[in-house]
Amino acid sequence: MNEYDSNRIADLFKSSGYLQSLNIQDTNFYVLNTCHIREKSTEKVYSDIGRLKKNYRNKSKPIVLVTGCVAQAENEEMLKREPYIDAVIGPQSYHDIPKILKNLDKNTKKFNLTDFDVIEKFDKLNLVKNSNSNVSAFITIQEGCDKFCNFCVVPYTRGAEYSRSPKDIILEANDLVKNGAREITLLGQNVNAYKFIDAKKEIRLSNLINRLSKIEELKRIRYTTSHPKDMTQDLIQCYKNSNKLMPFLHLPVQSGSDRILNSMNRKHTSAEYLSTINKLLKINPEIKFSSDFIVGYPGETEKDFNETISLIKKVNFINSYSFIYSTRPGTPASNLAMIDKEIQKKRLVVLQNLLRKIQMNKNKKEIGKIKEVLVENRMKNRNQHFGRTRDLTPVILSQSKDSDIGKILDVKIEECNQNSLFGRKKIVESEAAA
Ligand code: SAH
Ligand code: SF4
Repeated sequence: MNEYDSNRIADLFKSSGYLQSLNIQDTNFYVLNTCHIREKSTEKVYSDIGRLKKNYRNKSKPIVLVTGCVAQAENEEMLKREPYIDAVIGPQSYHDIPKILKNLDKNTKKFNLTDFDVIEKFDKLNLVKNSNSNVSAFITIQEGCDKFCNFCVVPYTRGAEYSRSPKDIILEANDLVKNGAREITLLGQNVNAYKFIDAKKEIRLSNLINRLSKIEELKRIRYTTSHPKDMTQDLIQCYKNSNKLMPFLHLPVQSGSDRILNSMNRKHTSAEYLSTINKLLKINPEIKFSSDFIVGYPGETEKDFNETISLIKKVNFINSYSFIYSTRPGTPASNLAMIDKEIQKKRLVVLQNLLRKIQMNKNKKEIGKIKEVLVENRMKNRNQHFGRTRDLTPVILSQSKDSDIGKILDVKIEECNQNSLFGRKKIVESEAAA
């Protein structure tokens, strides 16, 4: 979502007459868009600004904006601690950047924009075209969270759940497709909790996927991140009905232990999670899964950890994120006693090794197969292109041309490593003759 926000912030600057600088040493405005999900993020902001100060020691100071969730959480504190910062702008206030740009130019005043005005934000953002021209593009459709997992800052930094209107989302999707997008990933902290009341009718994520599927030139639809509790039957059914919804689902489980899930306030058990996975596989056996895991949560015993390991083996996640539990100030879990750091680290290694093994085995099995790959771009300094399979696995392909960008090609997989497949474009007869 921060990538989407950063692009939209760039669009707001463009709408005010600014150009994006490609050189960090030569800019009038420096925007640092931040994430607050785990600790050290705040310190990273200060060290980044330290580096910036060095770069600009003998030049005139750029105007420095800190945006995103660190700005939201720290607000006034940041302005006091680091006078080099001119404004802190939370994730629900960045639509006001154009309004403050002129005033900031005069360099007279510090700004603290950290209100939660998400309706006004999207009303204003809708007026500024999304200029992103990637083959695979993002659209935020939902923001915030009402779930309040005990370890998580999101409900405090992004605020309450909010869903954008389907009309605005479709308009933005059409713009992106005109710019060249062939794949759209719908974003939200709890994207499958998406709900919009339109003329007394409830529009859900499943309805939105069906509407977006009608955009002819849009070939692939994805969404992230989902909460297991919101995997409703209508959404599961989409995996049968929509040929554009890709058979890959990122569905974070965090832990395989019911005791820990309960202490995390996740509102689901591991059996409920597995039952959702099985329902999805019954509808469409092609679906692959990934997850997020928190390792070493307060109170996690060896038995709890082994339950996570056993759940991983049952689902065979092909690609996941795993983190050592990080205390976030102000969250309920921050009052719980931490477990030993060394144990946390050891468990993370065991868990990540297992995830890697599963991923590598899966990639090896793809060798020799023909996979459908959406070509996204040319690789830097190489005569190869980058794309992804239907299950989001990166593919480096040769024998492809720039004119293949945006197309879905049949690719013969010849090699693999941990993260990627390597393949060759299958040359069809008409091309071979040309
Ligand atoms: N809404 C999604 C997750 C959004 S946060 C969900 O409910 O699954 C993205 C990921 O960051 C989480 O899935 C979690 O694994 C990780 N995360 C959040 N808070 C964390 C913390 N305090 N320590 C470690 N990881 C954390
Ligand atoms: Fe955080 Fe996700 Fe839980 Fe919401 S559902 S509190 S975003 S982990």
